[in-house]
Amino acid sequence: MLDLLIKEARLIDGTKLEIGVRDQKIVAVEEKITEDAKQTIVLDPDVFLSAGWIDDHVHCFEKMNLYYDYPDQIGVEKGVTSVIDAGTTGAENIHEFYELAQQAKTNVYALVNISKWGIVEQDELADLSKVKEALVRKVLQSLPDFIVGIKARMSKTVIGDNGITPLEMAKKIQADNQHLPLMVHVGSAPPELEEILSVMEKGDVLTHCFNGKVNGILDQETDKIKSFVWDAYNKGVIFDIGHGTDSFNFHVAQKALQEGLQARSISTDIYIRNRMNGPVYDMATTLEKLFVVGYSWAEIINKITEAPAQNFGLRNKGKVQVGYDADFTLFKIEEKEKELTDSNGYTRMTNQQITPVKTIIGGIVYDN
Ligand code: ZN
Ligand code: ZN
Repeated sequence: MLDLLIKEARLIDGTKLEIGVRDQKIVAVEEKITEDAKQTIVLDPDVFLSAGWIDDHVHCFEKMNLYYDYPDQIGVEKGVTSVIDAGTTGAENIHEFYELAQQAKTNVYALVNISKWGIVEQDELADLSKVKEALVRKVLQSLPDFIVGIKARMSKTVIGDNGITPLEMAKKIQADNQHLPLMVHVGSAPPELEEILSVMEKGDVLTHCFNGKVNGILDQETDKIKSFVWDAYNKGVIFDIGHGTDSFNFHVAQKALQEGLQARSISTDIYIRNRMNGPVYDMATTLEKLFVVGYSWAEIINKITEAPAQNFGLRNKGKVQVGYDADFTLFKIEEKEKELTDSNGYTRMTNQQITPVKTIIGGIVYDN
């Protein structure tokens, strides 16, 4: 007996299949499943199914004051089955976040900020005595299933006079701890993007990749991708959207795509203010912005399922395959016009909208 049977499921490539779920896992993916189930859902012909959407850059520890939100309000309620909080907390307060996060329906993971209290103040890396490698190591050992990587914010307002040093410290922590994933936030200089990228290695994640700042990937005079950015891209640095209040620009995203440089993962950098007031709102709106600059829906879905699962070592997530977790997002893509706004106030019209209709987490079905 299955716990859940999903009939008439259609993937983004048009494949039709049926999916059987037991004990929170996918146990069958076949053309036709005849086994009985406690619950059966039959999808409408205009609904697509994908592995559950993963947002690898959010801020969802509600006890913080600067950047905070509630996991289920940015997760299950928005078609997102798993979120990775990107360094809101550090070694001193991540346990408290963990305890709260366990109550969410949404799967919550975290990157631990190398600064011990995370983003309590905006300049968490201005005082390097807050970077305590031994403390970071301790929480990595005590919360191995929750903490999936480390985070360093490398921009002017965060680092004070410390230049590239905080990133070098992050790289050392990474090297001393099984080379776990490292996400680096970029923004205004210092440090210069060139210096940051020269320290980053294959598999490291550059978030806010399509920001519209002078210290971004696009040379504002020639309107071309800077050559050192290509070097980083070609050596395997992962470009991640991290839209945020301040960090997604349509023109930069479109130029990059036209030159052949793609973001590997799409994330929102959502927190309560950019969710309520824009320009982020939710994952679906962020996806529409990537569609409007030229990504296909198939590419987009990969960048919120398989790609982030791989980048952050979420072993049982990101695929509709036997043995994987029973997390799915059911959604519609409709021909409907909508005005979209980037972080710099520029607008584009999309003629297609994507809307989650059901979110399934561990085999439990939630309506959107
Ligand atoms: Zn950031
Ligand atoms: Zn962020």
